[in-house]
Amino acid sequence: MTTCCCIIPDYLLNTIVEKGTAPQHIVHACQSTLEKTKLLQSSRVEAIASAQRQPPSEGIIPPYIHETIARTAATVEEREAALSTLTHDAKRRTVARPTRQLNRTVYNSQHSWDDPPPRDKIAIKEGGALISEAEDPTKDANECYIGLKKTYDFFFKFFQRNSINSRGMPLDSFVHFGVHFKNAFWNGRELVFGDGDGIIFNGFTDELDVMAHEFTHGVVQYTSPLDYTFQSGSLNESLADVFGIMVKQYAENPDNPQTVDQSNWLIGEGIWAAGVNGRALRDMKNPGTAYDDDRIGKDDQPAHWKDFKKLDISQDSGGVHINSGIPNRAFYLAATKIGGYAWEGAGPIWYKALTSGKLGRNATFKEFADLTIENAGKHGDEIKEAWQLVGYPFPDSRSEL
Ligand SMILES: [Zn+2]
Repeated sequence: MTTCCCIIPDYLLNTIVEKGTAPQHIVHACQSTLEKTKLLQSSRVEAIASAQRQPPSEGIIPPYIHETIARTAATVEEREAALSTLTHDAKRRTVARPTRQLNRTVYNSQHSWDDPPPRDKIAIKEGGALISEAEDPTKDANECYIGLKKTYDFFFKFFQRNSINSRGMPLDSFVHFGVHFKNAFWNGRELVFGDGDGIIFNGFTDELDVMAHEFTHGVVQYTSPLDYTFQSGSLNESLADVFGIMVKQYAENPDNPQTVDQSNWLIGEGIWAAGVNGRALRDMKNPGTAYDDDRIGKDDQPAHWKDFKKLDISQDSGGVHINSGIPNRAFYLAATKIGGYAWEGAGPIWYKALTSGKLGRNATFKEFADLTIENAGKHGDEIKEAWQLVGYPFPDSRSEL
């Protein structure tokens, strides 16, 4: 099973290597990133597998037991005691807010390739001062530290989620991983950022949507650990983009956040270095149009099920970064049909589907779409229409993977 949740797909790096039109040292660096990524992928299966679904925030005695006691109580006292417990539990479930437990540590990997990365060099610890430009001219550690807070705050404020596992999981992250490593990833325990090369790829820490994308892979792992292959992998990728774009829309300027109409719906807008013909890594509004460059190839994301790419497991783990264009566009359409701020409209519906406990590891597009429709409340029509515009109802068969 492939479980690397990297922001840059292998096929893109492969294209750079195969075309060979980039400077030779860049081609070699891409080759090296690919090789290192394969090693990293195999080492993190265990971390992902060990993640536990979080138990629901319920008391040990389920409500239906108290309801039965109240209904069958022999005395008025027993009945009132059961009813009062029910009322108390319901109130607690309604008003219980998670404790805020932001706990960041940014480590400097100092270009080590070790995974897990070494922890001997702490750049910034929670509550500590930002580091000076002399110490880190790239500002990666500072950007990472600030971006983690913005992402944590977004999930806490709008989804009452206390960190990746909603139990205050420490946010350990690593900057300056490897040498010219052209990727960022969630390794099942930590967020890891390479430096890029400055020729094709800029760094990754200054993009809030990239930060939130990797953070969300962690959230998916702890809520509905979708297998990172085929359609379930595309859903995993898409969910990371969905929450990534919402963090970008809100947190780039929380005093004046973007509505769904103001957003450009671009993921990884600053990833490409100057001279690369690309607006971003992905475009949720118009999948398949984010880049087109001799050195890196053309954005190949479909925007509709009719263009779904049937790929085998060796090709982008069955197309996880490619076919995610379809659910990405569904979210864009749903969010714009509802209007306003995405985290008040379509966002909570996607979050409910993600945390419903009903999303299987090998969920299909159809199953996920049905879950969002089921959780859409008064927006059922808009959500269904959004999915229909990208091909719903999709063939609900795993033979169509
Ligand atoms: Zn990803």
